[in-house]
Order: sequence, then structure tokens, then C-alpha cells
Amino acid sequence: MPDTRAKILIVDDVPSNVHVLSRILRDEYEIYFATNGDKALELVQARLPDLVLLDIMMPGMDGFEVCTRIKENPATADIPVIFISARGEVEDETRGLEVGAIDFITKPISPPIVQARVRNHILLKRQTDLLRQLSFLDGLTGIPNRRRFDEVLALEWRRCGRSKLPLSVIMLDVDHFKAFNDRYGHQSGDDCLRAVSRLLSEHVMRPGDLVARFGGEEFVCLLPETDAGGAARVAERLRAAVETEAIPHAASPTAGHVTISLGCAGTVPPDDHPPDELLDLADQALYEAKRGGRNRYRMAEMGMVAE
Ligand code: GH3
Ligand code: MG
Ligand code: MG
Repeated sequence: MPDTRAKILIVDDVPSNVHVLSRILRDEYEIYFATNGDKALELVQARLPDLVLLDIMMPGMDGFEVCTRIKENPATADIPVIFISARGEVEDETRGLEVGAIDFITKPISPPIVQARVRNHILLKRQTDLLRQLSFLDGLTGIPNRRRFDEVLALEWRRCGRSKLPLSVIMLDVDHFKAFNDRYGHQSGDDCLRAVSRLLSEHVMRPGDLVARFGGEEFVCLLPETDAGGAARVAERLRAAVETEAIPHAASPTAGHVTISLGCAGTVPPDDHPPDELLDLADQALYEAKRGGRNRYRMAEMGMVAE
């Protein structure tokens, strides 16, 4: 059975302090520990704990510095940090809160208080994680929404740009969907969007690929480490998948079933351009696909993003 217990990282340069905390928490949580700042940061990155209990006074990198670094990194900034301090001085506490700590516990510790506070913070963290996950999903189709797409696009744009790898997007839109709603009703329209989103998700293959609902009957695929040629192959696969599903659409002038039109654009992200330009190119290509008769994909004319 997978371990679904919350993960806690305990950081203290004195091993016996680690031991005391570990003993009162290990029955309920999965415990990791570090006895210096560097090791702590390494574990935070690798394990993404749900909570960090952090000593302030440590040789080398002190607790304030460790906390600051955790909060600076977007991947770890949401991990709550509780400072454990021997001194309990007001200045310490102020500074701890300033660098982003969520709470403060003073040594010598009281086991029931530590247990209660840790439990509260873990509960809060789990609720926040859940809300965050939900806020990234489209309510109708259950696939990632535009907010999620924008976030991943920004990350992949930077990552692929740094590594000089290509990044492609495909914008796609259901053909004659207004006529579908008019003919079959809005409820069936919703069912159709769910079916299309499922087909799209099933037919992108790589783990890093992302399919999101962009809005209305428009979807978008993000394909990291994929050039324009690769994106064209994916686009054709998606088009064929929707066509093969043959969802009846008697009111479509294009075919007797539901079809999609797609626009692809790909580039090695240049430093000084925002990712919106790539989306605009894919959108223009989508427009060309519509103009060219629908149920087809078009490649963007490149040269606008890259020099
Ligand atoms: P085209 O082939 O040019 O894309 O034509 P179209 O009719 O698909 O495009 P248009 O933009 O004119 O109409 C889109 C329709 O999609 C209108 C809108 O009511 C419908 N729509 C948007 N979001 C939803 C939704 O969540 N559920 C349903 N059922 N319909 C939706
Ligand atoms: Mg449409
Ligand atoms: Mg549309």
C-alpha cells in the first residue's frame, strides 16, 4: 500500500533534538531529517515534505537562510515552515515570520503542543493542496483548465528556452459547435465536449504533454521537446481520433459527425519573446484550418517568434 502519511522534515544540527521530535511524530508521519542547511534544502527539493520543522541556530547556513531559500523557490514556496528556537526571543520570532515561517515553537518543547500544532498545520496544508488542485481543473471536462495551461506554458517556455529545445502548441476548436448545440441541445453539447477532451487526452502520448480546455469548445495541447514536424503528427492523430469516434452531427456542413480544426506552432523559445506569440501563431493557423474547409490542421508560418 502506498504511504499516504504526511511527510515532515526535521532540521536541527543537534542529533538528540532531531531524535526527540522524531519520537513524538513518527507514529503519525513519515519523517525525514537533516543536521545542516544544505542537506535540508536538498531533501526539501527531493521529497517535497508537507511541513518543515526548522532549527534557527545552526553552524553554516542558519534556519532563516534555509527558510528564505525554501520560500524563494516556486516549487517549494508553499511548504509550511515552523521554526523551533531555543531562545524564544521576540526579534527571532519577528524575523522568522518575516522570512515566511507559519509558526514558532520554543525549546524545551512540549510534546502534546508540538503534536497539536503540527496536526493543525498539516490539515491546513492538505486542504490548500486540494483547493489548488481543483482550481487547476476544468469543471465540465475534468481536464486541466486554462490557468493550469498558462502556468505550465510559462515554465516549459523557460525550461525549453534554457536547454535550446523546441516547444510546440496545438490550438484546436470543435467545428460547427453552435449548430451541434442547436440541433441536439446544450446537455448533449456538454457530453460532446467531455468526449472530445477524453479523446484528446488519450491521444497525446508523452508524459510531459498537456491537454487543457482553453475555453468554450476550444482546447490546447502543449508539447515540450517537440518540434513543428512532431506537432503536425500529433495534430493529425488528434483529428483522426475525433473523426473515428464518429459522434453524430447531422447539422454539420463539413461531415455527418463531429470534427475538429487545429493550428500548430513550434519553436525553440527565444529569450526575449513571451510565450503568447506562439499561441497567437497557433491561433492564426487554426483560423487558416477553418478557412481551408475545417476537419484539418494547419502549420503556422514561422518567422515571427524566432528571428
Ligand atoms: P466554427 O466551426 O467556426 O468553430 O463554428 P462554431 O459554431 O463551432 O463556433 P462559434 O464560436 O460560432 O460557436 C461556439 C459555440 O460553442 C457557441 C457556444 O454556445 C458553444 N459552447 C461554448 N462553451 C460551451 C459549453 O461549455 N457547453 C456547450 N454545450 N456549448 C458551449
Ligand atoms: Mg467551433
Ligand atoms: Mg470557438
